[in-house]
Amino acid sequence: MVKLLEGKFVADQIKEKLKTSVRSLKQAPVLASILVGDDSSALSYVKTQEKIASSLGIQYKFHQLPKSICEDELIDFVLKLNADADVNGIIVQLPLPKSIDYMRVCEFIMPSKDVEGMHPTNIGKVLFGRARIAACTANAVMELLNSTGIDLYGKEAVIVGHSEIVGKPLAMLLLEKFATVTVCHIATSKAGKLQKHVEEAEVLVVAVGQPGLIKGEWIKEGAIVVDVGINCVDNKIVGDVEFQSAQKRAAYITPVPGGVGPVTVAILMRNLVEATHAQQSRRQ
Ligand code: NAP
Repeated sequence: MVKLLEGKFVADQIKEKLKTSVRSLKQAPVLASILVGDDSSALSYVKTQEKIASSLGIQYKFHQLPKSICEDELIDFVLKLNADADVNGIIVQLPLPKSIDYMRVCEFIMPSKDVEGMHPTNIGKVLFGRARIAACTANAVMELLNSTGIDLYGKEAVIVGHSEIVGKPLAMLLLEKFATVTVCHIATSKAGKLQKHVEEAEVLVVAVGQPGLIKGEWIKEGAIVVDVGINCVDNKIVGDVEFQSAQKRAAYITPVPGGVGPVTVAILMRNLVEATHAQQSRRQ
């Protein structure tokens, strides 16, 4: 019988601990959130973050910048937030206009305020297994896997998608747990080898953004399946994995929506609270 990996359950546990942690701070944490333009899904994600922040006693400062802004202007804005002692964390919402390089902007966020774990210093720490702040979504996947209680040591873990925000940092986090990690990407699909790799996966994480990319019959019996993908099909949100057929074979599977998403926001808040603790103890 398949077990649903409900994100709300894991997220609630993280948020409960955070409430105590926020109360122990000298000042409530402040998260500065930047959105360039008016993308509707980003705006709705901002609303969710704002609501969760307020439920935890976190101050959420939203800055909406015009679509016409250039990369250097956005970087100047980030530098101002770096210099503002009242701001503890900075998040740059995606998507950005095509003319702006997200990873370059992240390089200018002070590592101690980089609550998304995207600054090269924080990414480097993941590589050395010394990360205090790691990419939110990759960390959310690890929390969901951890909630199964299954030891990842020696497990065949397959990640589909090698983006900087999900697949690559996740590969490092899984390696740290001694999983045997395979990372698939567009070239794997073009070479016709995606199915072969997915069929071997005891732990499968899919982060592509293509509905139905992973067929239910490819899932190994008893696998843990984490579907990161978010796609809108016929006004409904679906993942990258064919859920109905996959759940007949998997031991654990995340629903979409309601799987990775809620945990990602909880991790963002946890990163902020950790960053604030570190900043306040340095100021003593
Ligand atoms: P991304 O930057 O577009 O990366 C997608 C990855 O999929 C790339 O590595 C791409 O490879 C690979 N890919 C594309 N087509 C493929 C195919 N046919 N077979 C195998 N790999 C293929 O996207 P992302 O930011 O990582 O996000 C991925 C999905 O997760 C999206 O649906 C996004 O909305 C969702 N997401 C969810 C959360 C959450 O909290 N739930 C957070 C972040 C993202 P190439 O680059 O080589 O083309």
